[in-house]
Amino acid sequence: MEQQALWDDAHAERTEASPTRGSMSVRTSRARSRRELSEPEGAATVGAAVSPPVLASIAVGRPVRGEFTYSVPDALAGHLSPGQRVLVPFGRGTALGFYLGPASPPAEEGVKLKPIQRVLEDSPSLPKDLIALLRFAAVHYRYPLGEVIRGALPPGLSKAVDEKEAKPDVQLFAVALINEVPPELHRAPAQSAALAYLLAVGGRAPLEEVSHAIPGARETLKKLAARGMARIEEKKLEAGVKDGLMQGRPERLTREQDTSVTELRAALDTGEFQPFLLHGVTGSGKTEVYLRAAEHALAQGKGSLILVPEIALTPQLVGRFRSRFGAEVAVLHSALKDRERLFHWQALRRGDVKIAVGVRSAVFAPVDNLGLIVVDEEHDPSFKQEEKLRYQARDLAVVRGKQANAVVVLGSATPSLETLENVRRGRYRLLELKNRVDDRPMPTIELVDLRVERPREGVVTEEAPILSPPLLAAMEETIGRGQQVILFLNRRGHSTVLLCEVCGLSLKCSECDVCLTHHRSQNRVVCHYCGLAMPVPERCTECTGPLLKLGIGTEKVEAEVLERIPTARVARLDRDSATSAERLTEMLASFARRELDVLVGTQMVAKGHDFPGVTLVCVVMADTSLAIPDFRASERTFHLLTQVSGRAGRGKDPGRVLVQTYNPDAEPVRRVLAHDFDGFAKQELDWRKALAYPPYSRMAAIRLEGEHPEQVASVARHLGNLVSRHMPPASAGVRLLGPALAPISRIRGKTRWQLLVKGPTHASLAPLLGRMEAALGDLPSGVKVVIDVDPGAML
Ligand code: ADP
Ligand code: ZN
Repeated sequence: MEQQALWDDAHAERTEASPTRGSMSVRTSRARSRRELSEPEGAATVGAAVSPPVLASIAVGRPVRGEFTYSVPDALAGHLSPGQRVLVPFGRGTALGFYLGPASPPAEEGVKLKPIQRVLEDSPSLPKDLIALLRFAAVHYRYPLGEVIRGALPPGLSKAVDEKEAKPDVQLFAVALINEVPPELHRAPAQSAALAYLLAVGGRAPLEEVSHAIPGARETLKKLAARGMARIEEKKLEAGVKDGLMQGRPERLTREQDTSVTELRAALDTGEFQPFLLHGVTGSGKTEVYLRAAEHALAQGKGSLILVPEIALTPQLVGRFRSRFGAEVAVLHSALKDRERLFHWQALRRGDVKIAVGVRSAVFAPVDNLGLIVVDEEHDPSFKQEEKLRYQARDLAVVRGKQANAVVVLGSATPSLETLENVRRGRYRLLELKNRVDDRPMPTIELVDLRVERPREGVVTEEAPILSPPLLAAMEETIGRGQQVILFLNRRGHSTVLLCEVCGLSLKCSECDVCLTHHRSQNRVVCHYCGLAMPVPERCTECTGPLLKLGIGTEKVEAEVLERIPTARVARLDRDSATSAERLTEMLASFARRELDVLVGTQMVAKGHDFPGVTLVCVVMADTSLAIPDFRASERTFHLLTQVSGRAGRGKDPGRVLVQTYNPDAEPVRRVLAHDFDGFAKQELDWRKALAYPPYSRMAAIRLEGEHPEQVASVARHLGNLVSRHMPPASAGVRLLGPALAPISRIRGKTRWQLLVKGPTHASLAPLLGRMEAALGDLPSGVKVVIDVDPGAML
């Protein structure tokens, strides 16, 4: 079952789409709704004119699907370039449009076409490769093209007004005047956090960025300035200023880094699309490889696009890029102000700034003359957007690389199975960093079998200790040596289940089909899906029986550490404790300064942190993510365990990892213990193949939700029938799973259903998805239905 690559699909779908492109009132896509067929009436009549008018294909900035054909008035003939923003008549009024290219005359005779009214800018806001990408995204993810484009553009360009130059605004920058956070600041956590962030990102950053990372930083930085530790300066928001504290550029690359960099340079020299996987163990120096590749691209006058999962958790990477390339770098995070987004857009578009470092949405950044795209931690689930246009930024990065003839580097210590399969099929070239920098050893990983260490006897009243004797001993020893410990558990709160001792019911959210978690620090029970919180009930709400507090969250782990090792300095890092980015940064900084011995946390501690003092990492319970009803549960567990293990032993002292589990035989656990990435991947791929799951098939989820359970169910069944009626012959290998209630059947009072379709290729699913897309317009408004192509989470 050889499937096409996403970028092959890109071409297939595009060429397939163009012949059907119709008149302005007819959409390109195969799907047509009644509403749109009765769209506005035209003015010019094709065929009646002596010489046929020039026709233009336009994406309209409205929630409508497909492309529209307009006529080009004489005054504009020859003056349009693809990507240009125009004003077009639409419905009863006008709308923002994007000129995409010439259109062929509509198939039907006598169709009236309206003319483009005027252009809104001289040079196009959208570069060519980006138009291709957005068009691809609209078709592939079944989302209205106009919305796709509007979502990608900064607000200043997404309205039907003439382009305004983002004035080279005066922007405030914070500059650190010292190289480290001095001890005297340790009693002023806010100041210390602001300074720590500034130092982490290279010593100089726009004030707005620091305030985004650390709310209240404006005031704090003034205090730091008064102490002579920082300076606030006004700078025109402009390109080309190169300063900030330089972070070292290593003189010598490791042998493996050197090999990878050489290959990437050669690839950049060809000026052709070449995708790579950089598979480098944790601590192997992947960032330096990205930096050297970007240097080479820059030397050729080409731009680079660097995608990272989350800016607040990766200030070190941002800092390294900024200190190497200075103001050649635009940092694109989710909290940019409209004005800044517009400024960065235009600066990148003009080629004044050549490097963009950003989160998922930066895949649409208009980097000029794009030479290199890097996706760091390519396995990270955050690259998938779970609303509106449900795109996978890593996949789009590869498609964009193909369209822009760029080199694409997907980097990870734990590549996704999709990417590995692309390597196996020879589509991506493999670059490997098998060793850590300076030949530091990988940490040793040991198992703690909780069935032996934490036996459950009889009725569970009092839970067994969370920290098993071996784990406790290892912690005490590590702290005794003055080294640091990370404790990882992927669950927030204190107790995760409140169970009635009499009737056995567990306390659930009234709006969602999930258990409430007890948060002792807030003295409340909280729903992790809708945020509903209430006082902790004394007794069962059904039968007034006494409630047992079961299940472990990070709060309980923290409490137990404090109880068992009273001298330890402990902090907890999860979404409850890191309520503000200020606290997050301060906690990470404080841990880095070694003011803390133990950091307890969720996956936030598993990200790319580089703490040389950490020599012990403990996984409190490896089992939590194993049982999730998702075909990627095993893979996700393996990734998390490997990533968190990778935090140990990054300094000069070797690292040790202890994994507590009730499932020592579970595949991901066994393989992590053996450092056996390849073995895990092979086993998991075999399993996926046997069950025809991605990467051996393509999937799409049709997700429904609505207030009235009966209505949602009936729409789900209706769509299920529709799919069944149009199913290709069994030999095509297309399958429908469902309709069924979603694993979490209710969130925020809305009942959720889903259908899954699965087929060998995207092309095999396309006709079915086309039917679905067409059906969307005719469904009752009380049920929201979305198509999620290549879904991430299955919940
Ligand atoms: P990874 O992302 O692969 O886990 P990093 O890129 O964070 O690893 O690198 C790990 C550490 O090694 C960083 O502190 C980095 O500055 C350092 N480093 C990277 N390359 C070199 C080199 N060639 N020489 C010395 N130190 C290096
Ligand atoms: Zn809820």
